[in-house]
Amino acid sequence: MMNRIKKLLFSIILLMSVSNVEAKIRVVSTLPNFSAIAKEIGGDKIEVTTIAKGYQNPHFIDPKPSFIIKMKKTDILVWAGLDLEIYWLTPLLENSRNSNIMWGAPGNVDASKGVSLLEIPNIPAAQLRAGGDIHVYGNPHYWHDPQNGKIIARNIYDAFVNASPKDAEYFKRNLEDFNSRLDTSIKKWLKLMEPFKGWKIIAYHNSWPYLEDRFGFVIVDFVEPKPGIPPSPNHLVKLIKKMRNQNIKIIIISPYFSDKPAKVLADKVGGQVVLVAPSVGAFEGVDSYFDLFDYNLGSLVDAFKSMDSKN
Ligand SMILES: [Zn+2]
Repeated sequence: MMNRIKKLLFSIILLMSVSNVEAKIRVVSTLPNFSAIAKEIGGDKIEVTTIAKGYQNPHFIDPKPSFIIKMKKTDILVWAGLDLEIYWLTPLLENSRNSNIMWGAPGNVDASKGVSLLEIPNIPAAQLRAGGDIHVYGNPHYWHDPQNGKIIARNIYDAFVNASPKDAEYFKRNLEDFNSRLDTSIKKWLKLMEPFKGWKIIAYHNSWPYLEDRFGFVIVDFVEPKPGIPPSPNHLVKLIKKMRNQNIKIIIISPYFSDKPAKVLADKVGGQVVLVAPSVGAFEGVDSYFDLFDYNLGSLVDAFKSMDSKN
């Protein structure tokens, strides 16, 4: 008899404690960069699911049905916008039939809102798209400028406050803390890159104008003749000429591209291919938004130094 009462009491206590656990804001984000920033702002008040892996090409993700299930049950969706996810996000979102996150809903966070875009084309989007170009509204890889990280954080913060006004103070503290740590790091990164202002490199895909702009190195050309189009032998010949003429020895590439053409270039000019992280989560140890810059700028500096010592 005593045992049964004990068990009953235990169940009641357990139930009470479960009901006291606050419901977390559910967040789905398309890219690990946004998840990393969401965790900085949301802390333990949120739970995040990320669709793309950091080592995948964000332009082309397989829209698996399991993602629809995740999107059905979320409060907030964070995405890059600018058509970056056009080939895979639209079918997922529309099939989720989740009114919290539909286009224009408060839970639908276009992280690019407020970002000063680079490379806005003066050709209509449809015309560019028809030609195979995948950057039709301006360059969509804007998270590579850490100053834009603050804008992304603000967009996410606004959605969190809207979803849970009672936690507004908590989110605000986290936002301010994130911004202040980012400012400190930006100073450190600028100092690291200072000696390499104006140094020229080649990139595989045009993912890096924001990083280039912030830190002052120069991307002279791309292995892809236009975003999304693989190189022809002719294009590679032109690049080799350019690299020789301008003494360019470094080609940066994300892990989801074949490194064959880049290696051909490097062999011809006695240069090197440098793997860079397109997103948080691309490589082991690149776990936070801060790690992304530590990794990419660190790799660039190492490559610049080793090329410098050879010259
Ligand atoms: Zn791109």
